[in-house]
Amino acid sequence: MSLHAAYDPDNIFAKIIRGEMPCVKVYEDDDILSFMDIFPQTEGHCLVIPKAAGATNLLDAPAEMLGTVIAGTQRIARAVAASLKPDGVRIAQFNGAPAGQTVYHLHFHILPVYEGRAVAAHENAGPAATGELKALAEKIRAAL
Ligand code: AMP
Repeated sequence: MSLHAAYDPDNIFAKIIRGEMPCVKVYEDDDILSFMDIFPQTEGHCLVIPKAAGATNLLDAPAEMLGTVIAGTQRIARAVAASLKPDGVRIAQFNGAPAGQTVYHLHFHILPVYEGRAVAAHENAGPAATGELKALAEKIRAAL
């Protein structure tokens, strides 16, 4: 999808926000939702999204929305670091299909990185068992 495409209200993340599709939730408030990535590139890979519809990517998001989402991303990244004890944390964000974006609702990736363990390539990671994702989400939540 083009970098400047119109927002599609039926994208997967919009459906998750509306409760039309399930997710393994990490955190939710009035403005943001965080849930586990179902194709995790590392153990504990989760996503943070604004709950408001309309922003396809970082370029078309209002600055206030970005501020709220990045503050939430920091909070959840700190909980990921405290609970899963990775050696590093990668924050990733893609804009437009050629850059690697596959879901067109603004989101930030939180990827805990562990020394000596590979990070699967973006768009090339296998599905995770829901039970494992729930256990990881619970650990992260406990550190929020
Ligand atoms: P991006 O490629 O940056 O647009 O990231 C989209 C991410 O959403 C990918 O890492 C996918 O694995 C992930 N993803 C796709 N569908 C779902 C879903 N239903 N629940 C959780 N994560 C998803």
